[in-house]
Amino acid sequence: MSAQVLDGKRIRDEILSELKPRIAKLRRPPGLAVVLVGHDPGSEVYVRNKIKACGDLGIYSEKIAPPETITTGELLGIVDGLNQRPEIDGILVQMPLPKQVDSRKVLVSVQPDKDVDGFHPVNVGNLVAGIPGPRACTPSGIMEMLKRYQIGVAGKNAVVVGRSDIVGKPMALLLLHANATVTICHSKTADLAAECRRADILVAAIGRANLLGRDHIRPGAVVIDVGMNRMADGKLLGDVDQDAERDLASAFTPVPGGVGPLTIAMLMSNTVQAAERHLCSASA
Ligand code: NDP
Repeated sequence: MSAQVLDGKRIRDEILSELKPRIAKLRRPPGLAVVLVGHDPGSEVYVRNKIKACGDLGIYSEKIAPPETITTGELLGIVDGLNQRPEIDGILVQMPLPKQVDSRKVLVSVQPDKDVDGFHPVNVGNLVAGIPGPRACTPSGIMEMLKRYQIGVAGKNAVVVGRSDIVGKPMALLLLHANATVTICHSKTADLAAECRRADILVAAIGRANLLGRDHIRPGAVVIDVGMNRMADGKLLGDVDQDAERDLASAFTPVPGGVGPLTIAMLMSNTVQAAERHLCSASA
């Protein structure tokens, strides 16, 4: 039997349509500021999509586009200005930043309650401790997808390949909080295929086209492919071989159309949640 294809666009649309009535209830639109330094073509596309999603939902958005030559101090000044503005609920500084900028300093300068990416150490700490707060968008989108497809996590063996701060680590923690038994693999893992084959739920967040194949998928596993690898011919490939997924998995996320659409949906969700918190505490 062929594997079920997990449709990220459908789940994205569900999430976004549930946000609309919440936005309508607020006494002002939620506000998101996106800071895009320079002209990285990939980042420009991401930011355009984020701004468009805001417009479609009725979220106020503002793009701040300082030049490539900006200093750390100047960027800190921009973030500080946004921290002070009550109508801005979320601040997103698009990565990567130019070399001369201290990314860590900038990341930490975003007020934690406006950190809609969930990257601030305070929010990472909240995630570790299981305290509510904004979560990194891609992993929380994956959890939404598993929930909405009624794929049980508790008691399952989950293997996450990749340990980045933005995907792998928060993904592993969210799965752990959902009571999976979690293994985290990385480039120094001794026998990657053997680890992956133990997975009931396999999450690939590596950034290497088709690195995982038939040897890595346990028959019947659910495979979540976060990878987005742009090939020389313009084609977008995931980290997992799609033919192998089709033959062996019980369900998998395609690339494109799987995890990608969820990330922006969760950014919108984090922004609405931040606005709800801000407006609630302002009226308290
Ligand atoms: P990083 O480069 O930060 O992390 C990659 C991870 O993969 C590292 O932990 C690295 O291990 C591990 N890795 C690399 N090579 C191997 C290998 N041969 N065997 C096992 N592990 C390996 O990437 P990100 O986490 O930022 O992104 C991962 C992928 O997800 C990328 O393709 C990115 O484009 C995509 N992505 C997609 C999003 C979406 O919305 N769909 C959002 C964010 C990212 P080590 O730590 O040892 O170096």
